[in-house]
Amino acid sequence: MARIGRLAFLAFAVAFHVVYMFSIFDVYFVSPIVGGIKAFRVDTPKAPAKRLVLYVGDGLRADKAFQFFPNPSAPPSDPAAQEPRPLAPFLRSRVLEYGTFGISHTRVPTESRPGHVALIAGLYEDVSSVTTGWKLNPVNFDSVFNRSSHTWSWGSPDILPMFSTGAVPGRVEDATYGADFEDSSMDAMKLDIWVFDRVRQLFKDAETDPELNARLREDKIVFFLHLLGLDTTGHANRPYSKEYLQNIQLVDNGVKEITEIIENFYGDGETAYVFTADHGMSDWGSHGDGHPDNTRTPLIAWGSGVAKPVTVRNGRAPGHDDGVSHDWHLDHVQRHDVAQADVAALMAYLAGLEFPVNSVGELPLPYLATTDKEKARALSVNARAILEMYRVKEEKKSETVLRYAPYPGFADSEYSIEHRLKLVEQTIEHGQHLQAIEEAHQLIKLGLRGLRYLQTYDWLFLRALVTLGYVGWIAFAFTTAIDAHMLGGKVEASRTTTSVTVFGSLLVALYSFLFVQSSPITYYAYAIFPIMFWEEVLARRQALVQAKNNVFSQFSSWDVAKAGLNLLAYVGMLEIMVQSYYHREIYTLAYLLLVPWPAIYGMEFVRGNWTLCGTWALTCTAMSIFTLLPAMKVEDPNLILLGGLLILLVGVLYIALEKSLLVGSAPSKNGLSSNKPDGLSRVILGVQVGLVALAMIVTRSSVTALQAKQGLPLGTQMVGWITLVVSLLVPFLHALNPRDDYLHRIVVIFLAFGPLFIILTISYEGLFYFVMAVTLLTWVRLEHRIHQRSSPLSSEADHAPLKLSNPLEPAISAAKERETALDDGDYRLLALSDARICLFFLFLLQSAFFSTGNIASVSSFSLDAVYRLVPVFDPFSQAALLMLKMLAPFALVSANLGILTKQLKLRGGSLFAIVMGISDYLTLRFFWEVRDEGSWLDIGESISMFVIASGLCIFVASLEALSETFVRGVKFDNGKAPVATGAQANGRPNGSAKKLQPSAGQAG
Ligand SMILES: [Zn+2]
Repeated sequence: MARIGRLAFLAFAVAFHVVYMFSIFDVYFVSPIVGGIKAFRVDTPKAPAKRLVLYVGDGLRADKAFQFFPNPSAPPSDPAAQEPRPLAPFLRSRVLEYGTFGISHTRVPTESRPGHVALIAGLYEDVSSVTTGWKLNPVNFDSVFNRSSHTWSWGSPDILPMFSTGAVPGRVEDATYGADFEDSSMDAMKLDIWVFDRVRQLFKDAETDPELNARLREDKIVFFLHLLGLDTTGHANRPYSKEYLQNIQLVDNGVKEITEIIENFYGDGETAYVFTADHGMSDWGSHGDGHPDNTRTPLIAWGSGVAKPVTVRNGRAPGHDDGVSHDWHLDHVQRHDVAQADVAALMAYLAGLEFPVNSVGELPLPYLATTDKEKARALSVNARAILEMYRVKEEKKSETVLRYAPYPGFADSEYSIEHRLKLVEQTIEHGQHLQAIEEAHQLIKLGLRGLRYLQTYDWLFLRALVTLGYVGWIAFAFTTAIDAHMLGGKVEASRTTTSVTVFGSLLVALYSFLFVQSSPITYYAYAIFPIMFWEEVLARRQALVQAKNNVFSQFSSWDVAKAGLNLLAYVGMLEIMVQSYYHREIYTLAYLLLVPWPAIYGMEFVRGNWTLCGTWALTCTAMSIFTLLPAMKVEDPNLILLGGLLILLVGVLYIALEKSLLVGSAPSKNGLSSNKPDGLSRVILGVQVGLVALAMIVTRSSVTALQAKQGLPLGTQMVGWITLVVSLLVPFLHALNPRDDYLHRIVVIFLAFGPLFIILTISYEGLFYFVMAVTLLTWVRLEHRIHQRSSPLSSEADHAPLKLSNPLEPAISAAKERETALDDGDYRLLALSDARICLFFLFLLQSAFFSTGNIASVSSFSLDAVYRLVPVFDPFSQAALLMLKMLAPFALVSANLGILTKQLKLRGGSLFAIVMGISDYLTLRFFWEVRDEGSWLDIGESISMFVIASGLCIFVASLEALSETFVRGVKFDNGKAPVATGAQANGRPNGSAKKLQPSAGQAG
C-alpha cells in the first residue's frame, strides 16, 4: 500500500483494535447454545411434586439471609430489639425442619441476566450475550419454564420477558410492573409488595373463576416470583443498611404468606419450593465481578420431593468446612453447596419435567427425598442429557473442521458414549446403586470436559493469529513512525513481485482454509490484519535499515551498551505498568520515584527551573496518594465540595491573574488575537466558572435529598443535567474570539469537564482531577525546558537549511519566523530521546485511570453518583455516564500531549504513533492472561484488563484526533528559558534530530 496519511493511520488503529478486542469473544466466549438436541426426562410413575414454586430474591447474598441482626424495623431505643435475631425466620425454619439448604455458587458476570439463565435454563451464557442484549434473548434457549405445562411469573420487566419470549407461545405468562416503577431513589420494597399482591390476587381470583381454578390444578406447573427489591435496596443503600435488612424481613414474610396460601389452596402437600438468588451483593452495593460476596447465594428447597435436613447432635455437620457459614447458627445442619446451573436440574426433576436442552446442571442428589435406586436412575438420565449435547456438538464440529481430532476421553470406540451409558444402567440393574451414582457422576464430568474440549477446539489457531496481529501492529506502528517521522518519508517502499505473490497467496490460502471450515466472518477480519501489517513492514525494511544505520553509526560500543540498558529499562517500565493492573499501589511508588526526576538533567537545570521542579515534586507527591485511597469509594459530600472548590479556585485565579500569567506564556505579541479586546473570552470563562459553582450547589442538594431517601427532586435533576450539558457546550463559544495561548486553552478544557466531574464524584475524584491537571501542565513545561536545554547548538551551525532565525534576535521576531516555518511544514524529526516522552505519556494515561479506581471498581461500580442524574435503574445510560466521567481526565492528558508535540516542534501524531505501538505491549500481555476457567474473580478481572488495555489503545487513537482539535492554532513563546543554552536554542525547529539524520531539514 502507498504510504498512509495520518488520518488513515488513526483509522487503521481504531479499526484494528476494535476488531481485535472482539477476538476474545471468539476465542474465549463462544455461545454454548446449539439446536437439534433431544430432551430427556427422569421417568417415574409419579413426579416428586405436582408443581413448583421458585422464589428469587434478586441480589440477596448468602450470609445476609442467614446471619443474626438486631431488628432493623424496631426503633433503636427499644432494648429488646437490639437482641440479634434471624431476619428470615420462615426460611430458616425450612432449613431447620423441612428442607435442604446450601450455597448456590454463581459464575461471573454476577448480573441478573446470566444468573437467571443459569438458574432457569441451566446454562452459563457466554459473556458476549451481555453485550448483545439485556432483556431479550439473542438466542432462544430452552428453560425449565418452557418444559412446564404452564408458568406464571411476576416481577421485573428486565428479567421475565427473557423466558416468556423464547418459550412455546402461551406457555409462560408474565406480569411485570413498568420500568419507571423501579426508581431507585425511592423505597424499593414496593417492588416485592407488588409481586406478593399479584400472587395473592391470582389465587383469590381462582376462587371465583372456575376456568383459572382448573388451570391452576394442572400438573407440571411452575410459579416464579422475581423479587427485585433487595437488588435495588442493596444498590442504593448497601447490604449492611437498615433498608436492605428490612427488605429481607419483608421477603421472608411474603414467602411465608404465599407458601401458606398455596398450601391452603391445594391442600395436597404436593408442591415443591425453591428459594434462591441470582447473584449476591458486595459491601459497596454493587455486583458483577467474581467477589465471593457476589457469587454466594442462598439455596433453600423444601416441600414435596425434597429431602429433610440432615443434622448432627454434637459438633459441626458436614459442608461447613470453608468457614463461610460459621455465624449462621446452622452448624448442626448439613450444608449442600451447588453450582448455580444445578438448580435448573433440581427444579426440572422435582416437577417431573424434561431437563432443558443445553443445560449443564448436575442433579444435586442430597436434595432429593428418594431411594438410592431412584437417585442413580435420575443421575443416569441427567448424564444422558449432557452426553446428548456433547454428541450433537461434536457432530457439528466434525462437519465443519477440515480434520477433526475427537476428544480423547470418548475416542476409544470400545467405550463409546452409548456403551458407557449402558454400563451405568447395568450397574443399576445389578443393584449397585451407589456405584452407579458414582459412575454417572464421572460420566457427567467427562461429558462436561468433552464440551469444554469442543468449546476450545479453535484456540491454538486463533490465539496464534491474534498474537501475530498484535505483534504485526506494533511493528507497523514503529515502522510508520520511523519512516514518516524519523526519516521524513524519504525512503521509498520496495516491493518485489515475489513478495507480493507470497503475501497474496498466504492470504488466499488462509481464507480458503477459513472458508472450508465455514468459520465465522470475524475470523476473516482477524486473518487480514497480520498479513497487511507484515507485508507493509517488509516493504519498508529499507527505512528500518537506514534508521538503524543512522542511529548506530554514531554510537560507540559504550553507547550501544547504554542503549541496550535503556531498552531493558523501557520494557521493565512497561512490565511494571502490566503489574499495576493487579496492584494499583505501584503508581504510588512510581510517582515518588519520579519526584527527583528533573535532577537527572543536572543541578544547574534544577536551579534554573526551581519553581517548576518544586511544583513537580509537590504534584508527584500528591499524585502518589490517590492510589493508596480505596478504589471502592463511599459517598463523601465534604470531599466532593473540596474538589469542586479547588476546580473553582483555578478558574477564579486564572481570570484574576490572566494578564500577568500570560505576559510570560503569551505567544507572539503581534499574534492574531492579542490585540483584540479579551472581554468576550473573559465573559465565557466567567460563565464556565459559574457553571462549576452551580455544579457544586446542585450536587450538594441532590446528595442531601438522596441520602435522606426523599427521592431526587425533578428540579434538582433537571438543573444537574442542564449544568452538565451547558458546561460541555459553552467552551465552543471560545471559537468566537479565539486565543492562541496554550495556558488559556488548557484552562478552558479543564473548566469544561469540571462540572461533569463534580456532579459524578463520589468522594476524592475532584481532588484527583485538580492534581492531575497541575501535574500534566508541569510535565509539559518541564519537557519543554529539557528539550531546550538538550538541543545541541553545534549542529545548528552545521545544518540549518532553512536559516530560520538568528538566535541573537529578539524572541518576538524569532517566534514570528518560526510561525512561518511551522506553516511551511518545518518540523523537527523524531529522535530516540522522544521514546521516553511516549513512555511518560503512557504512564500518565494509565495512572489517570487507576488513580480513582481499579479493575474491580470498573466491573462493579458504585452507582451513588449517577443516581444524581439517572435515579431509575437503567444500566446503559448509567454506564454511559460513568464512562464519560472515567474518560474526562483523558481529554486533559491528550490536550497536554498535543501541546507538547507542538512545543517540541514535532509533527502532529508522531508521538501518538509511538504510544500506540508500545501500548499494545500491554494489550498482548493481557490477551494471553484472559481466563475463562478457574476462579471467577480471576476470569472477570482478566477480561476487564484486556478490554481496558485495548480500550486505552483505541482511546489513544481518538485522543490524537481530539488533541489536534484542542491545540489547533495554539502558539508558543519559547523565549524565557532561563538556562543559557536554552535561550540560544530558541527558535530552532531542527533540534536534536540532526544528530541522527544530518540531512533532515524538512520533514515531508
Ligand atoms: Zn439481579
